[in-house]
Amino acid sequence: MSTSYWLAEETPALEQNRLDGRVDVAIVGGGVTGCACAHALARGGLRVRVHEARKVAEGASGRNGGFALRGGAPAYDDARRELGPERARSLWELTERALDRIESLAGDAFERTGSLRLAAEEAELAVLRAEHDALREDGFAVEWRSALGEPLRGRFFGAVFHPPDGAIQPARWVRRLAALASEAGADIREDTPVRALDELDAHAVVIATDGYTKGLVSSLDAAVQPTRGQVIVTEPLQRRLFDCPHYARHGYDYWQQTRDGRLVIGGCRDRALEEEFTAEEATTAAVQEGIEELAAELTGEPLQISHRWAGIFGTTDDRIPLAGRLPDSDRVWVACGYSGHGNVLGFACGELVAEAILGRRAPELELFEPARLL
Ligand SMILES: Cc1cc2nc3c(=O)[nH]c(=O)nc-3n(C[C@H](O)[C@H](O)[C@H](O)COP(=O)(O)OP(=O)(O)OC[C@H]3O[C@@H](n4cnc5c(N)ncnc54)[C@H](O)[C@@H]3O)c2cc1C
Repeated sequence: MSTSYWLAEETPALEQNRLDGRVDVAIVGGGVTGCACAHALARGGLRVRVHEARKVAEGASGRNGGFALRGGAPAYDDARRELGPERARSLWELTERALDRIESLAGDAFERTGSLRLAAEEAELAVLRAEHDALREDGFAVEWRSALGEPLRGRFFGAVFHPPDGAIQPARWVRRLAALASEAGADIREDTPVRALDELDAHAVVIATDGYTKGLVSSLDAAVQPTRGQVIVTEPLQRRLFDCPHYARHGYDYWQQTRDGRLVIGGCRDRALEEEFTAEEATTAAVQEGIEELAAELTGEPLQISHRWAGIFGTTDDRIPLAGRLPDSDRVWVACGYSGHGNVLGFACGELVAEAILGRRAPELELFEPARLL
């Protein structure tokens, strides 16, 4: 029961590709970030070794809600205010391009469904309207939905539809990305925890450990707050109710229905907000009950739960990731801190760091400069 539904899918073993001796780049972490980085570096001709403490995708990358959303953790209008209009636009455009790349690589692990952000209260409607208007003003595709169908009608006050977004089977996607990286020449070592950066025989090191960041660089441990998320999955529902990922209450509740009819639903962290700032990967009664109640209300049918699990993501103070070289280090790079929004951003940041190591630094990397928080 405490296994991720996504990770439970059978998968062929990763092809072993051993690189001996010193490599150009060692990556710590085999989630979406580490695998995207390894793929880009290996394609760029570098010798790359990935060290993953568990198996590929067994961190948050295989334990999340399966939403592939453009943008970052802050809504677009907030990002415009906090980052400035040019940088917010640049971040949103970066993630829209990343969604296109994911679509081109992920095969049947990705579906371009769009996503629906719902207002659970009248006050939230104004918040949604502000994001909708800001996106429209800047020419991004977005649709206002005031008339909602069953089972949303009467329960939610309106919604914004984001057409570029998608649904992913995240474990299948990241395992596929790892296989692509391996085919390109990367050595991906599972069950290989790194205890100190000194043990890595590599010219450069990339830390790609998001919420599981701990014990390698103390300033990073201080800047990336481990944050727990919990999810349940039901047996297939009797009806198809949801065609795309839905989220409400400022992202505290999120759910989608899989192609075989199951409800994947998570959130309710605010049932015990303080307790959920933890690195302990365990489900709790308070949050699980909240998710079950929400699932019952949304579906109106008796539910049989097949899977439940917890995962850890990394949150930063400004809810923008850290990606780039660590201050005062020639050798160590980082990409983490997506603040619960890493399926697309993790892929984008992993590639951005790889490109910079390859000597092709993209201007967008500046958006995520680690020095601002370290
Ligand atoms: C419940 C939940 C729901 C979420 N929902 C969504 C969503 O719907 N959409 C979205 O965009 N984002 C979501 N997220 C966030 C998203 O899952 C993460 O931001 C993203 O997966 C981060 O990927 P990553 O590769 O950077 O880190 P991870 O996938 O967490 O991978 C880090 C890896 O590093 C390894 N590691 C750590 N330390 C070491 C070490 N010392 N040595 C070797 N290996 C080490 C870990 O074992 C782990 O596998 C959610 C997260 C959770 C937990």
